[in-house]
Amino acid sequence: MLSEREKELLKLPTPCYVIDEAMLKHNLAILQKIEQQTGCHILLAQKAFSAYHVYPLIAEYISGTTASGIFEAMLAHEEMPQKQVHVFSPAYKDEDFDELLRICDHIVFNSFSQWKHFREKAMRHPEVSFGLRINPEYSEIDTDIYNPCFESSRLGITLENFEEDELEGISGLHFHTMCEQGAETLQRTLSAVEDKFGKFLPKMKWLNFGGGHHITLPDYRTDILIDCIRSMQEKYGLEIYLEPGEAVAIHAGWLVCSVLDVIRNGRDIAIVDTSAAAHMPDVLEMPYRPLILNSETSGTLPYTYRLGGPTCLAGDVIGDYSFDAPLRRGDKLIFTDMAMYSMVKNNTFNGMPLPSIYLLKEDNTPVLLKQFGYDDFKRRL
Ligand SMILES: *Cc1c(COP(=O)(O)O)cnc(C)c1O
Repeated sequence: MLSEREKELLKLPTPCYVIDEAMLKHNLAILQKIEQQTGCHILLAQKAFSAYHVYPLIAEYISGTTASGIFEAMLAHEEMPQKQVHVFSPAYKDEDFDELLRICDHIVFNSFSQWKHFREKAMRHPEVSFGLRINPEYSEIDTDIYNPCFESSRLGITLENFEEDELEGISGLHFHTMCEQGAETLQRTLSAVEDKFGKFLPKMKWLNFGGGHHITLPDYRTDILIDCIRSMQEKYGLEIYLEPGEAVAIHAGWLVCSVLDVIRNGRDIAIVDTSAAAHMPDVLEMPYRPLILNSETSGTLPYTYRLGGPTCLAGDVIGDYSFDAPLRRGDKLIFTDMAMYSMVKNNTFNGMPLPSIYLLKEDNTPVLLKQFGYDDFKRRL
């Protein structure tokens, strides 16, 4: 059975992403409470979720945003100007750096060579705080593509390459070594950070714990997170920053699609008007199997289908799902947890139309935020 709220989704033209205002607020309230309890600062990692229409809402709860480069920094500066803007990039371009100095509060460098290259310019901006990303060479991530500590990683400075004589002008250290993990992992990571870089922490004003914290999930140990934050604050007098992406937008949106055809080749196959490759690339990249409301895994309910997109890519398969009733052309399906890493990663491969973006308000009213058309496809080529 669908809730009243979920039934609203079936009325929308497909394909569309729908941001869940109620769930977004739920997540933000948890993050806000951690800020209030500890005095730390929480920043939205925009690379996971950049639906700037809701930035004013996000600004009511947390301290600001972080950016992966110039465009995300500009977006934050335009759409959440009253809050902090931080940026980290593996390397900056000369032509972007003046603008970053103008719009960012914190700029984090990935190497001492980057720092030395930009230092002279940077030192003319006492209003901006500069930091270095370190690589503590400790992480608990098994998939290399998501592990910033894998062998010869380009992300962060290892202790061996740390130039302690070049720290004048540096006010903070940043690490990002986690991915969808709990506070127990943070605790172990922090002890690796302290073992290796602890001797530099008394010279710093702040420490940024990066992202990858599953803070807003029900079984997350916020008590351990709070201990971690307090111990760094008390031991070293540091300001603490966290920059979660997922934790802000997790479970805070859907992707609604329609069945276009049902065919057979050894099994039943449904073709839908959304594509794994174009609209939910993490399904193929991570890879993972997204959930669909009122469906189960293959074979659990009487009617099982393999769902795939209308592109030419043979592997544009979303997964196998079972339903109570046969699927027919025109039926709508609702994928859950589609707010994060979806809108920011989609593409128009095969000339696929981009899904519209709606906000489902807390009172169940849908608001159309964005609609895309042929021009959006053509303009990029
Ligand atoms: C990806 C990333 C984040 C956000 O990660 P989530 O897993 O979405 O919380 C934060 N900081 C940096 C530097 C990142 O690369």
